[in-house]
Amino acid sequence: MNAPYLPRNCWRVEILDGDWMPASGTHADKAHAEALMDAAMNRHPGSQLRLIRETTTSHVEAIRGVGHLPAGTNAEDCPACIGSNPSYPFLCPGPAS
Ligand SMILES: [Zn+2]
Repeated sequence: MNAPYLPRNCWRVEILDGDWMPASGTHADKAHAEALMDAAMNRHPGSQLRLIRETTTSHVEAIRGVGHLPAGTNAEDCPACIGSNPSYPFLCPGPAS
């Protein structure tokens, strides 16, 4: 399940008003953000505006948590075997798996 970990890009507009202040929400579509910047320029002639591209990247590192029980334990009692449907006689393969 990789979808939640895809890099994200979004765009927003800032206006210089003593400091850089938000002038739009964030939008996935750059063209939409640019249109909002044009509209802000019309509302605030003579002001400085800038387009901000925000990017986020997620790195999934080591998984911790539920492991297998000792080899030979009944797989029905092993939290790591749940849903794995091991073949008969339904024994947990153990922590090395
Ligand atoms: Zn197991």
